[in-house]
This record gives sequence, C-alpha cells and structure tokens, in this order.
Amino acid sequence: MSDTLQTNQARATDYLKRFADAPVGHYINGEFTQGSCGELYDNITPTDNSSLGKVVAGTVADVDAACQAAEDAFQEWSNTPGAERKKILNKFADKLVERADEIALVESMDCGQAIRFMKQAAVRGAANFRFFADKAPEAQNGLALHQDEHTNFTIRNAIGPVGIITPWNTPFMLSTWKIAPALAAGCTVVHKPAELTPLSAYILAEIADEVLPKGVWNMVNGFGETAGKRLTEHPAIKAVALVGESATGTHIMRQGADTLKRMHFELGGKNPVIVFDDADFERALDAVVFMIYSLNGQRCTSSSRLLIQKGIAPKFIEALEARVKNLRVGHPLDPQTEVGPLVHTGHCAKVLSYMDLATEDGAKIAVGGARVDQANNGISLQGNYVKPTLFTGADNSMRIAREEIFGPVLTAIQFETEEEAIAIANDTEYGLSGYIWTENTGRAMRMARKVEAGMLWVNSENNRNLPSPFGGIKQSGIGRDGGDWSFDFYMETKNVCVAHGTHKVPTLGK
Ligand code: NAD
Repeated sequence: MSDTLQTNQARATDYLKRFADAPVGHYINGEFTQGSCGELYDNITPTDNSSLGKVVAGTVADVDAACQAAEDAFQEWSNTPGAERKKILNKFADKLVERADEIALVESMDCGQAIRFMKQAAVRGAANFRFFADKAPEAQNGLALHQDEHTNFTIRNAIGPVGIITPWNTPFMLSTWKIAPALAAGCTVVHKPAELTPLSAYILAEIADEVLPKGVWNMVNGFGETAGKRLTEHPAIKAVALVGESATGTHIMRQGADTLKRMHFELGGKNPVIVFDDADFERALDAVVFMIYSLNGQRCTSSSRLLIQKGIAPKFIEALEARVKNLRVGHPLDPQTEVGPLVHTGHCAKVLSYMDLATEDGAKIAVGGARVDQANNGISLQGNYVKPTLFTGADNSMRIAREEIFGPVLTAIQFETEEEAIAIANDTEYGLSGYIWTENTGRAMRMARKVEAGMLWVNSENNRNLPSPFGGIKQSGIGRDGGDWSFDFYMETKNVCVAHGTHKVPTLGK
C-alpha cells in the first residue's frame, strides 16, 4: 500500500509519542540525562505550531560534563585502530538505515521538510558514515617529502574533542556530515543541535549509545547563547564546526578566541543562478524551480537570485510564473507536497516581511506574496505556510536581492552581458554557491573563474559528491567539508624530519 498523508501521520504519531511523554534531554558520557535540570521549553512543530513535547535547555554545567566526558574518552578512541573505527561507523550506518522511516517522519514533523525530500535522508546519512568509515584506517597517513640529506614525513593525529553545532534546516543530514568525519579521524564529539529541531539529534544519540564506547559521542540540547556559547569556550574542545548564520560565525569566533580554537564555518548565502540566452531552457527552468522551492527555500545553497539574460527573460519568466503557481504547498507528511511550512512563526514572519520590503523597494510580486491556509488539495493548513513567491522587476540593490530570506522566495534580476552577470553575481557579501546555465563552454569556463563562490555548478542543480569540497567564501564560511577536507579539519599534522647522517651540523662554541 502506498503512503498517504493519513498513513504517514499515523506512523509519525507512534514515533513521536515518546517525545511527548518525557522531555528530550541530553546524552552525556553514555547516559541519557536531563542534566542539571535546565529550563524546559516546548518543541513546536511547524505543521500547526502545536507542541511535540518538552526539551531540556542545557546549562553550562551540562556542557561542562559533556566536554569532560569527551576529553576522558579521547585517548582510547583516538588510539582505537582505524579498522575498528571503520567497523563501528559502518554499524552506525546500518542502524541509520534500519530507522529510516522513523528518521524521515520525525524530521519532517520537527522541521517541516516535505517527506518526499526526507525519505532518502537516512540512506544519505548512512552513506556519509560509510564514506568516512572507509577513510578511518588511513587517518594517520601522511606524506613523505625528500631532500638531499633529510627526509620529512608527516603524521596526522586526531585534534581532540570537538564541538559540532548544527542548524534547524536539514538538521539530521548536516549532523551526519560533521560527526562522521570527526569520529573517523579519532575525535570525540559534543553535539549541540539547533534548539528548534532537537529530535533527529536524539535519535542519532540513541544509535551512538548502541554502537560507540561511552563518552565518544555526547549531545547537549539547548540555546545558542548558553549551551552553544559554553561549548565554544570550553578549554577541552579543540575545534568547532558550525553550520549556521553568518552572524553566529562571528559570535563563535569571538567566543573561541581565548582558547584559540580551530574553526570551520558553513554559513549563509545569497546564491545566484545565472541563465544565459543559450541555456537549455527546460533543464534550466527545472533547476531554477528546484533550487529555491525545494526544502521550503530553507537551504544554504538555494539559488535565491535568478540572473536572467534579457533575450530569454520574458519567455523564461512567463514559464517560471506558471511553474511557481503550480507548486503544491501542503502538510509535509503528504507525499504530494512540494513545499512545506517554515520552521517557526518568527521565521515565517521574517519571510513574509520581505513581501512589503519588495514592493517598497520597487519590485513586483509576480507570484505568491502571502500566507497559505489551504493546501492545493483543499486540506486546511494551520502552520507557517507561505506561498511560493517570485519577485520580478528587481535589481541587485534591493533588500530582496541582498539579504538571505531563507524561504520559498525567488528574486529575478535581468542582465545583458556576461560582464554584467558576473558583476551582479559578485555584488554580495556572501559567496557560498552559484549556478551557471549556458551551452557555451568557453563562457562557462570564464564564469567558473570569475564568479566569487566556494562552489559552482554548470548546467546542473546542486549535486553533492562526498569527496568534493563543500563550503563558502566571503561571509559564507571558512573551511570545507568533503573527503580529505573534512578529514584534515579534525586532525593535526605533525612533521618529522629525519637526517640521513650526511649533512654537517652547525657547530657553536667549539
Ligand atoms: P543559527 O546561526 O541561528 O543557529 C545555528 C546553531 O548555532 C544553532 O544550534 C544555535 O543554537 C547555535 N548558536 C547560535 N548562537 C550561538 C552562539 N553565540 N554560540 C554558539 N552557538 C550558537 O542558524 P539557523 O537559523 O539554525 O540556520 C540557518 C542558517 O544556517 C542560514 O543562514 C543558512 O544559510 C545556514 N546554513 C548554512 C549551510 C552551509 O553549508 N553553508 C548549511 C545549512 C544552513
């Protein structure tokens, strides 16, 4: 029998019951605990803004306990042979797949992502773990660098306990991106999930409890300004990996300064998709729609600025309007839903505020521009649902073109020449990703050099390849995820220089 909204809701209710029955606490030193009993707050589902249950806000004492546990477990875990860590991480991946249905449904209810995009989440998370499991045995490998009379070689060692701080958009997937390489490298972890979406992090901790030695994985729920802040200040924590807003990166850099922490930041974006007159029209249209309206527009790499060349602009915008009007907004557990609710009321209000800002600045709301209270199939909606929105007649000075709105909202800007497209694309404080649509290979190569972004896709939507580097420049981040980039972040490289016994050692005082 195929899934329906009703069957999905019934299964989700079963999975969520335990979170309603008891507050969601922390996982510290191999124990599920409410810690030092910080305040309780409601975990609100964006589907209708009702509470899924209480969450315990971690205190400084809870974070300290978690960091101590991670420090205590570090020596043993980092000295565990890579082959053994590989086995454990593969076991972790198996458990993720076993719980795929639960992870998808719980995550959809917690953060509002449509189930069609969450269904494969566990399998993709498991792939992250398997990828880094395979790398665990080579964690300590280094390079040999030969000179005439010396040989240098490098050794890599796990950096120590690390803090992982994740956001509310795709929290499950991003947690696996960060934690899998850290564990493979031999680090122990303290994870601070986003306060708005704690549930998949709890499931991850449950799996950790089954397969990892105690203290290797710790998780403390709570707010950024308390639990998160303490984690970034704690002396036992040697590195912090954050996925979040650019302003949060600034705070964390300050907070970690006294203890000189290594930082890896994946931050915001205002990413351009540049469509030239010679682009494959239908493929470009599909990609433009997918890359802003999927995941409710709450995606760091979403192409929120469409730069469209004047020759095809009228035809492209007309086709785009039709597609945007046709998008199916609805309950995230409805398999038909393409756009679900925004994560919380405050964020929804922020996204809606741009409707007025757009017209104040002189743009036109071509499609959308308001809340939705009824799905396309007639079902009434009570959560944070916003109509997929398209702004036209915009230029790059407008707030809708400069600020990260982080919702199903696209700003279309027209350009004439390649040079103008590059100038507009780069006229932003961000530099995460960009998308280029052209059949002219030479132009694609020129754009690849000139567009300021950590990642560019040519004639493609966002396609993730785990060994490839992922990350941003400018205000969009520091450092890279992916393959050895992820791995190196969690390790210290030591150089050992060995003399061949042939060189003359300088003599002093003889
Ligand atoms: P956020 O910055 O508000 O929160 C992210 C995490 O940081 C949360 O766990 C939060 O509690 C914590 N935090 C907040 N203040 C802190 C502090 N002072 N010290 C320590 N921790 C603190 O981000 P969000 O609203 O949850 O997520 C959306 C943002 O994340 C968007 O800007 C989006 O672009 C960005 N993002 C970037 C990527 C990427 O790969 N570049 C991926 C996903 C999301």
